Amino acid sequence: AEVTRRLFELIRAVPDFPQSGVTFRDITPLLADADGFAHCIDLLAEPWRDAGVQVVCGIESRGFIFGAALADRLRSGFVPLRKPGKLPPPVVSAQYQLEYGSDALEMRADAPHDGERVLIVDDVLATGGTLAAARSLVEKAGMHPVGAGVLIELGALPGRARWGGGLPLHALLRY
Ligand code: IMP
Repeated sequence: AEVTRRLFELIRAVPDFPQSGVTFRDITPLLADADGFAHCIDLLAEPWRDAGVQVVCGIESRGFIFGAALADRLRSGFVPLRKPGKLPPPVVSAQYQLEYGSDALEMRADAPHDGERVLIVDDVLATGGTLAAARSLVEKAGMHPVGAGVLIELGALPGRARWGGGLPLHALLRY
């Protein structure tokens, strides 16, 4: 509880960013704090210790930071899920809807991913669109998702419902 309180203290609330009416949760003060970052990775890893995770898939770009540290901690591989056009071919891709328009995530398609046990990682769960796209992407690539881990869940938004009840979703901090 003490550690969790400290983590909350290290996240900065920025009103009206990136647009009016939105409160942005800035995790960079937490990254800059040696103990805060270490504790954060400890706690993110805990639910997955015995889950047989072979690969962590981190979502661009803050999901790379937490995902890579978590992969190291779990002694698993790391595979980046990137914005379109960043990875060289061949890639597999999944589209998802934004409030205005759509976006996509891509993953390299030429690795021996078949049936590998994957943990999906991002910093913040909001509407859940990004995490849902990541899940369909790893499934498309023939991997086996075991769940998702996020640092922050924005509870006012339907992200958890969108993820569904079938696979575990662990969040460290809830707003
Ligand atoms: P979703 O697809 O609506 O769940 O949005 C999640 C994505 O948007 C994640 O990749 C987050 O990095 C980013 N995001 C949404 N809200 C915030 C925030 O308050 N702080 C940092 N990132 C955010």
